[in-house]
Amino acid sequence: MSADRKLYEGKAKILYATDDPEVLVAHFKDDATAFNAAKRGTIVRKGEINCAISTHLFQRLEACGVPTHWLDTPAIDRMHVKAVEIVPLEVVVRNVAAGSLCRQTGITLGTEIDPPLVEFFYKNDELGDPLLTRDRLRLLNLATPEEIDRLRELALTVNRHLSEFFASCEITLVDFKLEFGTTSDSQIVLADEISPDTCRLWDRRESDPERRVMDKDRFRQDLGQVESAYEQVLERVLAQVEASSNAAT
Ligand code: C5P
Repeated sequence: MSADRKLYEGKAKILYATDDPEVLVAHFKDDATAFNAAKRGTIVRKGEINCAISTHLFQRLEACGVPTHWLDTPAIDRMHVKAVEIVPLEVVVRNVAAGSLCRQTGITLGTEIDPPLVEFFYKNDELGDPLLTRDRLRLLNLATPEEIDRLRELALTVNRHLSEFFASCEITLVDFKLEFGTTSDSQIVLADEISPDTCRLWDRRESDPERRVMDKDRFRQDLGQVESAYEQVLERVLAQVEASSNAAT
């Protein structure tokens, strides 16, 4: 499959066309951005680490009945994905209070959230990806009420499976952001990536509030050891994937 016509370059990935209009190549970059690209940098090996983590998580979710855009991973930093029209919403699920929830509500960092909170943000860089209310979602007509219900249900299903999986890696899934797309046959599938760029992940082996951080907050907050944190997440994911495949045989 040729993969040389660039269709779109985002902050973390480049999408290329292939000779099949239903299939794209997603190239995961080492570039890192935060605060709507006001802070920029590079995280060495991030592209391949995030591609590998996303590959395992998408495969796992597919096995649990969650449809995703993932097709296969032909190179360490490249995935074949289904061509989808991205729903312009970022769906965030929170199990533990952190980030914008703490900043905007005053809830203490680390407060457990049960049942998990599902939030919809408008995926629009110019507007700074604002949090949407139910009525604003309806007003903007970015998705039908039935699609919103489906996104919420899928996001909570993803949360159940990933929380359990990360717990088996001795990692707490604090919160994460999902993106969804619609395929040519109108199916809603999970798209984008699931990685330390898009999840908050806290090491259960560490109680120190800085040392426990294994995700992009290390880059956002200049905590250092960004690369080793991402590598540690991949290492634990791979160990767990291997342990579950050994248990299955
Ligand atoms: O910043 P906030 O607390 O709302 O982020 C919630 C979760 O969504 C975090 O895991 C963060 O990494 C992720 N996120 C993302 N891309 C964005 C905004 C948030 O991956 N544009």
